[in-house]
Amino acid sequence: MELTKDLCFNGEIVTPNDMEYEEDRQIWNRAIQRYPIAILYCTGVEDVISALRFCIIKKLKFRIRSGGHNYEGYSIGNNLIVIDVSRMNKIMINESKSTVRIQSGVENSELYEYLGTRGYPFPGGTCPTVGVAGYTLGGGWGLSCRLFGLGLDNVLEFQMVNYKGKIITANRDCNSDLFWALRGGGGGNFGIVTSLTFRLPPKLNRVTFFTIYYQNTTALEQANLMDVFQNLYETLDRRVNMRASFYNAEDEGVAAFFIGIFYGDIEELKEILEPLLVIPKAEAEFEYTTFLNAIKQVEAIYPDSQKFKSTGGFAYRIYSKCELLELALSIQRRPIGSVYAAVTFYGLGGAVKDKGKHETAFYYRDSNYIIGIQSVWENSAYAEDNRAWVASRLDYIKTITKGFFVNFPYSPLRNYEREYYGGNACRLQCIREKYDPFNVFNYPQSIK
Ligand SMILES: Cc1cc2nc3c(=O)[nH]c(=O)nc-3n(C[C@H](O)[C@H](O)[C@H](O)COP(=O)(O)OP(=O)(O)OC[C@H]3O[C@@H](n4cnc5c(N)ncnc54)[C@H](O)[C@@H]3O)c2cc1C
Repeated sequence: MELTKDLCFNGEIVTPNDMEYEEDRQIWNRAIQRYPIAILYCTGVEDVISALRFCIIKKLKFRIRSGGHNYEGYSIGNNLIVIDVSRMNKIMINESKSTVRIQSGVENSELYEYLGTRGYPFPGGTCPTVGVAGYTLGGGWGLSCRLFGLGLDNVLEFQMVNYKGKIITANRDCNSDLFWALRGGGGGNFGIVTSLTFRLPPKLNRVTFFTIYYQNTTALEQANLMDVFQNLYETLDRRVNMRASFYNAEDEGVAAFFIGIFYGDIEELKEILEPLLVIPKAEAEFEYTTFLNAIKQVEAIYPDSQKFKSTGGFAYRIYSKCELLELALSIQRRPIGSVYAAVTFYGLGGAVKDKGKHETAFYYRDSNYIIGIQSVWENSAYAEDNRAWVASRLDYIKTITKGFFVNFPYSPLRNYEREYYGGNACRLQCIREKYDPFNVFNYPQSIK
């Protein structure tokens, strides 16, 4: 291609003239359709440097893509270059030091498989194809975070290509301000991360994987379940975490589904979860199994892609029955064209609270859980109705939560830096100024 003839690059270059272009320009959220000039699949750090320098010299806008799961599509765009690191997916374990180093294209499922077959769990996310880099840079919520901390809490070191095309290291001793910022400051703000080194959790044989299903629930029953959940999370054993979805699905009607992992055995878990299990309609299943098998069952729930709008804010207090009923009522009717509408609680607390809100860029440490709102549709004709529905539900959720989770970004937010980073926003702006003085790395909601 004429445009890329000056580019010294070992990886594949996909442009609109290529058969693969139509598939390769897609991201997980199919409601977002963008048309880049070219997608540059990097094979290693040298390719990343070449691609970045090329974009700077040619004055071409670019985006960085790893797993392509950004809710708002900030890793893709029209008339720009996508620097894609997804083929940089080497994993290197050092068992004597209890560390694992990954290239920034590794996906959740690849890391789970690699570590799981060696007996290690990992505090990753729930979707198999989310990029570990994007997940971690934005915080990294998962079913092991109450025991091991968020994804970011386990990072020892980042390697990153900066705006000069130089490789720099960020850890506790070297570029420690950048190390602070990369842990929760969101993807795409400071440079192109090429590798991450994590501390390994201890090996273990078994965990308990569990699900609790409540079929055909009324709004009142859902509000009651939310109440039990919030009270449970006041004192919950940190070895347990779960995601609780209160939903209205085209094929199932209104129901609730809890899914989680317990780092202990079944009998102990049953006692802990008793308040949820005694509720009429509870259909619970427990399985004592390997961590890898448990996480595979969580991952299996996800389709290959979806059209959706979703976001979420942080819960900080006990809500009244009226407030919970309002939340439950918000999903009793789906917007036109929606096949699935949900309010979801993502459990926090435990080890997430062990660090202070200024210790890393992730500010919302003291929250007990994230409250997410979501609608999924199939026919693009209904996209706007679904987005408007999410916006209207969010009007209420915003009044009872604080901030927004940067891993669940929401494009209509005006004061997005404050919302994503709370009291860490100013420090992040200063660090950004230092590490990217010419605003080379930017997208619609980048740190300014
Ligand atoms: C189905 C689904 C399930 C999810 N489940 C969870 C979950 O369980 N827990 C959770 O915390 N989050 C979850 N998320 C959110 C997800 O973690 C974030 O969207 C994350 O940013 C995605 O990372 P990615 O690499 O897949 O996406 P991308 O879209 O490739 O990247 C996300 C952002 O990071 C930037 N970026 C990507 N790679 C790099 C890099 N190497 N260097 C610098 N910047 C980079 C991109 O430019 C973009 O701004 C989920 C998202 C989806 C769609």
